[in-house]
Amino acid sequence: MKYFDAHSHYTDRKFSRDRHELFVEMQRDGVEYVVDCFGAKEMNFGLSLARKYPFYYMCINDFAHYGKDYDKKGFDIGASEVLINQLVDESVEKLKKLCRENKKIVAYGECYIDFRRKDKTPAEIEKESFWFSKDLEVARRVGLPPVIHSGNADQESFDIIRKTDMPDYGGGKGMMHCYLGPPKMALDYVDMGYLVSVTGLVTHRSERGRNLVEVVKKLPLSHMLIETDCPYLTPEPFRGKRNDSGLLRLTVEAIAEIKGVYEEEVAEATNANARGLYRV
Ligand SMILES: [Zn+2]
Repeated sequence: MKYFDAHSHYTDRKFSRDRHELFVEMQRDGVEYVVDCFGAKEMNFGLSLARKYPFYYMCINDFAHYGKDYDKKGFDIGASEVLINQLVDESVEKLKKLCRENKKIVAYGECYIDFRRKDKTPAEIEKESFWFSKDLEVARRVGLPPVIHSGNADQESFDIIRKTDMPDYGGGKGMMHCYLGPPKMALDYVDMGYLVSVTGLVTHRSERGRNLVEVVKKLPLSHMLIETDCPYLTPEPFRGKRNDSGLLRLTVEAIAEIKGVYEEEVAEATNANARGLYRV
């Protein structure tokens, strides 16, 4: 079986001791591609990994970091339209140049909106929603599919995404990374042309895990991706330990059982979907 890990974080320090050995081993175990996700700080390191390892592709983020920096300084969005447009333009130009020089950059993200912290004020929620919409704009203008992180913001992110005129890149418009929303909404995303990504949480006997099982029951294989989000979200029975793409097989096993199909079908479909979306 050949697996495509649609989302990982191999620039993470948790891999510094044995990254090379792990990459060799996981490829031997059938991991055909990974799309690794990192921001401006890890850019040089990520680019060097992409040069060294043919199976390693990249999802990069730049603009969200500007947004967060400005937020910290009490940045007034309403009064700063000119500056914001300038930031977006600069970011788009910089990323376009990077993409011309590095053909293995295949996605933009994580486009981030997260309301898991319960004490966010309405003003903070509005700001974060605003930067999320700007992030989607950057993805669209650079010509990359967005990888969307939505944490406890199901309806907010859905409304913003629905309003965004994202092109279909051939294999879809973008990826709902680590999807944890309602099963019905996953199908709405499918109707809108997005792919929905399933993590190792599908093996967990938790509330989130049980919800994800319901998502998997409904979600057609034609619009499903699989990801580790490693080093996080380790599937059972290794929960609590470091995750890596070699453990994707456990997520595939769980999906196959839930849907009553062969593991090969799950691996093949999700591999083909990821290659289509990322144009790999
Ligand atoms: Zn992630």
